Order: sequence, then structure tokens, then C-alpha cells
Amino acid sequence: MKIGFIGLGNMGAPMAANLVAAGHDVTGFDTAGVTVEGVAPAASAAEAARGAEVVITMLPNGEILRQVADEIVPAMARGAVFLDCSTVDVASARAVAEQAQAAGLSALDAPVSGGVGGAEAGTLTFMVGGDEAGFETAKPLFDVMGKKAVHCGPSGNGQAAKICNNMILGATMIVTCEAFALADKLGLDRQAMFDVVSTSSGSSWSMNTYCPAPGVGPTSPADNDYAPGFAADLMLKDLRLAMQAAEAADADTPIGAAAMRLYEQFVEREDGAGRDFSAMLPRFERRRRG
Ligand code: NAD
Repeated sequence: MKIGFIGLGNMGAPMAANLVAAGHDVTGFDTAGVTVEGVAPAASAAEAARGAEVVITMLPNGEILRQVADEIVPAMARGAVFLDCSTVDVASARAVAEQAQAAGLSALDAPVSGGVGGAEAGTLTFMVGGDEAGFETAKPLFDVMGKKAVHCGPSGNGQAAKICNNMILGATMIVTCEAFALADKLGLDRQAMFDVVSTSSGSSWSMNTYCPAPGVGPTSPADNDYAPGFAADLMLKDLRLAMQAAEAADADTPIGAAAMRLYEQFVEREDGAGRDFSAMLPRFERRRRG
């Protein structure tokens, strides 16, 4: 397939490399001048998009996505698919999809879960909003870049699924870290705590797969001095998107709001910037009540 790929950063570069390895014809553009082996470099986003059957964007935020959409939508061939894999606000995803559809394109919002490791290994999960025909066209590409693609409904629903998932993740990570710090103070051994909770009703992905306590459970960023992994800054971004969506939709999300405030404090006023989001555990270890 002829593919345009815009945004060749930590995630985009390995995703594009996997498409090349699977035999696709990929032309790429990144404002930072990044190049990827096997990806033909374009001089602009519009040039990368021209003549492509599918154009993939993997960009930092909704504002940049909207700017790039203004450049590429007029350059894309009618019937082509605009496939945005960035994590952005639901409103931007829906606005860009409308713009693309008005120009005779298919539009999909398909944010991912799985991080840089999943992008490199081609094991991402895609949560997809948009029309069925676009989903069918993009499906072989999801199969190359990931292990699962769930069609979640119309435009914006992929982003909705992503922020709901990550709101649960942020909140469960915080409470798992709180519980370890409480267990320490109560004299409960961390291994015993893991053995009980990971097989009991308090279990979660944060405990069982990504345990925030070093030396306990499967290997995780905690065993590498909390180098990310999934940076606390990115968790803060996703919680902010969730709270922005909750406000716009008039949904009551008090635990999500508390999680956002804690990550805000951790990243902006403590030592959390650039650390894994599970480094909430050493934060709680140092703190007392009140
Ligand atoms: P990144 O900052 O490494 O990559 C973004 C790239 O976009 C950069 O190379 C930048 O130069 C380029 N860019 C910016 N403006 C551009 C423009 N106008 N035209 C072309 N290129 C432009 O970020 P990343 O880690 O690759 O993340 C990309 C997206 O994926 C984000 O929305 C992020 O939230 C999401 N995401 C990241 C992870 C992760 O673990 N890194 C996991 C899931 C989702």
C-alpha cells in the first residue's frame, strides 16, 4: 500500500519502520528532520500525503494535528484514509474527521496503547473511531503495527476509549502505590502484599503486570530506578484530556480529577518529570499524612 507517515518521533519512527519491513511503500515527514531507514523523505506534510492511499499521523497534540490536517486534507486523493494515531482531545479528533469527510476522505482516530516497546515490537493495541470502510482499509496496517484493533464506533470514540482506559490506569496506579506505602508502615512485607493482592479482588494491571515496588512481581520500570516506561508527564497529559472531556460532557469523575491533581503536583512541583508514572511509590514512601 502507498502510505504517507507524518510525525516520526519515539512512536512514529518504529511504526513506520514496521510498515516498511512488511513491504509497504512509505513516504515520511517530520518537522525535526527525522529520517527512518526505508522511508522516503518528503519535504513537507502535504508532499508525504499526496497520492497516498492511507496517511498516518503520530503527533504530540490536538493543536498540531489540526494544523497538519489543514495542510494535508487538500493534498489527499478522494477516497484515501486519514488515520490519526496520536493521543488528542476528543473535540480535535471529531473536528479533523469532519474536515476530512467533507473533502471526500475516510477518517479514523486510532490512538494506541503499548508504548515505545509495543511500537517497536509491532504489538500495539489500536482503539479506533470512524467509518467501517476506513477501518477495513486500515486493518492490514493495524495487523502490521499491532496485535489488536478494536472498532469503538464513530469518530472520536477511539480517543474516548483511550482516555477512559488511561484514567482507570492512573487511578489504579496511584492507589496501588498508596497501598504499598501503607503496608510498609503497617509492617507488611511487600512480597506478601503482592502475593495476596495479585490473586485477590484488589488485583489490577498496575499490580500484576507493572508492579511499582522494585524486586516484586514481574520486571517493571521500578526495577530500573523508575526510568520510563510510561512517563508521568504522559500520564498527566492523558488525565488532562480525560478531565477536559468530562467537563465538556458534564460527567462526574472525582477520582479521575484527584489523580490528575496528584500527577500535576508530582510532575510540576516535585521530582516526577521524566520519571515513570509508577514512581508515585517512592513519593508516597517519603510522605506522611497531611
Ligand atoms: P514524540 O514527541 O517523540 O514524536 C512526535 C513527533 O512529531 C516529533 O518527532 C515531532 O518533531 C513531530 N512533529 C511535531 N509537529 C509536527 C508537524 N507539524 N509536522 C510533522 N511532524 C511534527 O512523541 P511520541 O512519544 O512519538 O508520541 C506521539 C503520540 O503518541 C502522542 O500523541 C502521545 O501521547 C502518543 N502516545 C505515546 C506513547 C509513548 O509511550 N511515547 C504511548 C501511547 C501514545
